[in-house]
Amino acid sequence: MLSLSTIEEAQAAVGGRNLTTAEALWFRHTATVPDSWLYYMNVPYLFIIFNLAPLPALVMDALARSLFPSLRRFKLQPSSFVPFSFVLHCYKSVMTVFLLVVGPLQICSYPLIKFVGIRTSLPLPSIWEILAQLTVYFIIEDYGNYWIHRWLHSEWGYNNIHYKHHEFVAPTSVAAPYAHWLEILLLGFPSFVGPALVPCHMVTFWLWIALRQIEAIDTHSGYDFPWVPTKLIPFYGGSEYHDYHHFVGAKSQSNFASVFTYCDYIYGTDKGYRYKRRVEASRKVQ
Ligand SMILES: [Zn+2]
Ligand SMILES: [Zn+2]
Repeated sequence: MLSLSTIEEAQAAVGGRNLTTAEALWFRHTATVPDSWLYYMNVPYLFIIFNLAPLPALVMDALARSLFPSLRRFKLQPSSFVPFSFVLHCYKSVMTVFLLVVGPLQICSYPLIKFVGIRTSLPLPSIWEILAQLTVYFIIEDYGNYWIHRWLHSEWGYNNIHYKHHEFVAPTSVAAPYAHWLEILLLGFPSFVGPALVPCHMVTFWLWIALRQIEAIDTHSGYDFPWVPTKLIPFYGGSEYHDYHHFVGAKSQSNFASVFTYCDYIYGTDKGYRYKRRVEASRKVQ
């Protein structure tokens, strides 16, 4: 909760200048809201993202299946369409884990968030501060996820935990958070390491949680469009990169990283993928 009750106090908190539009909005809507409630907003945000973000790819699948088969040229595994019954099963499983694990975890982790110093005060962070912190969080999370995912492909890790996420040989958007509850917990941990090391404003934290989930859903969409802006991000993996990991399946010892490609390159776990790319490129030349 902001310990400010008047606009004059809010202006004093930002160094005597006028509040920006965003800061005025933040002051108006959060001044009397406890910090814990602002943090708990992650739960409805995540619920909305889990429900809305997979829809474009599912609609695309429905169109590519019958009305617009030409859309299949953007589909990574053009002949694979997940049956609706399995999509429904997947959705129910994701929502069950959300209600029993993800939501309660968000609520229980508030003392930790308070401890590491996630702030709700004014001034709001600049766009550059937000971008810099999000970049750090993505890099730290990617590194942590790489090693946890690699361990999940050990015999024990795969047979007891990770098998569920690999039920999809051709991923679809709803499959992004489709995993054993223990995997959700394990892979969720690196998401908190970045904000713990480099504490941010609550607005940045909301953005971080939302963007990470949207990124995962996009990576599992099953579609690769040449014009997506993420292709401009250096070392970004994307849907085609992760699709290869699912396509190879249980035996996959390739493309473990969740966001970027550099970990797999450094630790030599992208050799099969790069060989496949070379073969495809040479076929196009012929
Ligand atoms: Zn895997
Ligand atoms: Zn996956």
